[in-house]
Amino acid sequence: MKYVDEYRNGRHIARLAEMISREVSREYVFMEVCGGHTAAIHRFGIPSLLPPEVRLISGPGCPVCVTPARYIDMLVALASGGGVTVAMFGDLMRVPGSILTLAAARAAGADIRVVLSAHEALELALADPGRKVIFPAIGFETTAPGTAVTVMDAGKRGVDNFFVLSAHKVMPPAMEILLKEGTSLDGFICPGHVAVITGSSAFDFIPEKYGLACVVTGFEPADLLLAVLMLIRQVNSRSPRVETEYRRVVTRDGNTRAQGFMNEVFEHADTEWRGLGIIPSGGLTLRKRYRHLDAGEQFTVEVHEIQRDSGCLCGDILRGKITPADCPLFAGACTPDHPEGACMVSDEGSCNTWYKYHNHD
Ligand code: SF4
Repeated sequence: MKYVDEYRNGRHIARLAEMISREVSREYVFMEVCGGHTAAIHRFGIPSLLPPEVRLISGPGCPVCVTPARYIDMLVALASGGGVTVAMFGDLMRVPGSILTLAAARAAGADIRVVLSAHEALELALADPGRKVIFPAIGFETTAPGTAVTVMDAGKRGVDNFFVLSAHKVMPPAMEILLKEGTSLDGFICPGHVAVITGSSAFDFIPEKYGLACVVTGFEPADLLLAVLMLIRQVNSRSPRVETEYRRVVTRDGNTRAQGFMNEVFEHADTEWRGLGIIPSGGLTLRKRYRHLDAGEQFTVEVHEIQRDSGCLCGDILRGKITPADCPLFAGACTPDHPEGACMVSDEGSCNTWYKYHNHD
């Protein structure tokens, strides 16, 4: 309760909004690259508390949204082949593949089950040694350590019917791609949960190479407003650097133990991000010593991705070029009940968030 009082205190929030208005001296564009921040910003109505000169835009921070259609197609093929269970997080279920969603494949008989962790998938495998269980590993640096620990556990126990299909992504290379592409920004609201693992130093290259402001922040309204104020002060004083507002959990070096688990199991690889294409070193793949647990190595599936132009503009949304309301399908042909694109599926997707929290009539 104390926590909520401290970070959701109305007077405190009003005072921060007032300070922001007083310190604004030009136009500012700040991007958040964490789906949790996107959801919190719109749920708490943060844009309505900011002066018109301050614009917040969303980047590629929702793990489901950046999972490519080809990866969904592979899971559909694997789960439909017989003798294989795909045990996965529930928010992958309705993400469009190029032909089917996993929900449609399950309705057609594919063995797809929802689990809450990689370890739960491993337990399924241990309970039924005659069945091959594949865990689709998605998410950023926040979920990768959990996958890594599970892979290490499976390796130690000599489990031979548990596999991981890694679609893990890492955030700094994606932020750098946006900057190389010329995305016009004044700074980043850096991802708080990712930074718990990586440490705030993972973002040092942004002020050093690109001269942009960075603030690592938390998920409460006071966190977000304070981050905006800190970013504005960095821009106004022309002293871009990485600052941490979320000091209650983020350090400069991060969680070195979790980093150790990730390094033991994964190596960086060029990886496809939905809407952004192949990002050099943008993902994590299993190291050779865990090849026997790598579903990508142990299963052969033929996937012929079908390119269809549904009119979905997720790619532009993930690059911060447009807002969901700019998409002609938003809230018409595309809704959370009938998503055309991945950004409308997850609670952390920009389109889903806009649908829920903005008046789209
Ligand atoms: S509203 Fe739907 S179709 Fe448009 S960009 Fe978002 S997910 Fe894609």
